[in-house]
Amino acid sequence: MNNIFIIGVGLIGGSFALDIKKLNPESTIYGIDKSEAHLEEAMALKVIDKTAQFEDLQHADLVILSIPVDAAINVLPKVLDHVSDNAIVFDVGSTKEDICAKVKNHPKRRNYLAVHPIAGTEHSGPKAALHGLYKNKTNIICEVEDTAFKLQEKALKLFLDLGMRIRYMNPKAHDKHIAYVSHLSHISAFMLGKTVIDKEKNERDIFDMAGSGFESTVRLAKSSPAMWTPIFQQNKANVIETLEEFISNLNHFKKLMQDDDFESVYNEMESTNYIKDILNGIK
Ligand code: NAP
Repeated sequence: MNNIFIIGVGLIGGSFALDIKKLNPESTIYGIDKSEAHLEEAMALKVIDKTAQFEDLQHADLVILSIPVDAAINVLPKVLDHVSDNAIVFDVGSTKEDICAKVKNHPKRRNYLAVHPIAGTEHSGPKAALHGLYKNKTNIICEVEDTAFKLQEKALKLFLDLGMRIRYMNPKAHDKHIAYVSHLSHISAFMLGKTVIDKEKNERDIFDMAGSGFESTVRLAKSSPAMWTPIFQQNKANVIETLEEFISNLNHFKKLMQDDDFESVYNEMESTNYIKDILNGIK
């Protein structure tokens, strides 16, 4: 695959661009983005080789659609309209149900692979692109049977060359599970950040006392609202369900404290320490 098009030259698209170029220095990486500044930055940082237009997509071997999920749902059908029969197009969006439904009956549906790399940071834009971001990370693929077999093979080879582990899931299950492990974590970080910022207005000292525990817990609150708002919108029902469970756990914890039931407070935390084993297993 020599003509690689990245639509959205930010963290996720830019990181694919860097690794693909390293794997295949002969390839040409083209960038398309609504932000001229990001295109210039991506050129300066050598994340992309050239800028391009939608009309150029007819020459693409591979198109990676790495823009916010509300934009992706509108742009994907247009990308499929432009590409040749031999091109593989994948999106990297954090929600999968709506986008898969959107192109279900598109004449070029078999050129599309629905992908969600479970990799990232709280930073955005071309400057955030990283070499090796995808190594040892999980890549969730949805509705693989709806993608042409020879194109699936090309995409899988790329993911394996990047060092990724593959998991197959249907879009509905993907959106339900990801609401717990990713979307809820972001909301809890944002609201933890808000709680402390609101308090800090009166108590300047609070930040002098904030240690690495606060910083690591609240890290995700630095993430881009432009990326996350459409994710919460598209995955609204699942995310609300996770919030209800989380709020119920918070209320339960508060009640134990109000009741001076510190034995139960201890037990709640001790049983949750099991998360260490789960996370070690993932690593
Ligand atoms: P990012 O760093 O902000 O990059 C997205 C780029 O796309 C920006 O340059 C943005 O420009 C541009 N863009 C926005 N709308 C566009 C449009 N309609 N046409 C062309 N370009 C457009 O975001 P990211 O973190 O790479 O996220 C990209 C996708 O990856 C999202 O769908 C997200 O759900 C998914 N994802 C993210 C992570 C993560 O941890 N960040 C992990 C897995 C998957 P402006 O900045 O000017 O809007």
